Amino acid sequence: MIIPVVDTVKKHKKWFVAGAIVLVIFLVLRKLKIMTMINDIIEKLPHRGEYQQRSTDKIDRIIIHHSASPAGKFTVYDFARWHIDPKGRLNAPRIAYHFCIDPDGTVYQTNKLTSMSWHTINANATGIGIVLNGNFETEQPSDAQRKSLKNLIKYINDKLNKKLPVYGHKEIIGNSTACPGRNVKLDEFRNLS
Ligand SMILES: [Zn+2]
Repeated sequence: MIIPVVDTVKKHKKWFVAGAIVLVIFLVLRKLKIMTMINDIIEKLPHRGEYQQRSTDKIDRIIIHHSASPAGKFTVYDFARWHIDPKGRLNAPRIAYHFCIDPDGTVYQTNKLTSMSWHTINANATGIGIVLNGNFETEQPSDAQRKSLKNLIKYINDKLNKKLPVYGHKEIIGNSTACPGRNVKLDEFRNLS
């Protein structure tokens, strides 16, 4: 039985090699696409100081938020201005989240992964906060937003060489909130392959 298989492989060797090359090119392009989809605006955003820092070894979860404002009405720059406002509720050194995803699927990195930013009570030291721009108690996240969120979770896991559990803000003990809203189906973003 083995010999005919070996013969087949030998006979069609160039096709196996061509298939392998196509697969490698596909995987490299996919990786590049995910890397280039992230717009690093950490230093462009208004800020007043720096958060306490951690080693990436300490990161143990991803937490999803919504902005609770109508989708696209405000920008990530507005969120940053509100969060650093000395008279505001948060009075933070920088924006609260690590990433922001716009309704059109654009992904912004807004804090370093090492920053212990203030997005979730009881989970700031170990969490990565991702906000979806919109109010998902009343609206639906767009297909582009959901797709970008999945790609971003895969990117973070890949970068940290971990498989981080994904939570909604409301699932973390001590947080009395509807965030990220009933229309974000959290299971869709868990156990991604
Ligand atoms: Zn939240």
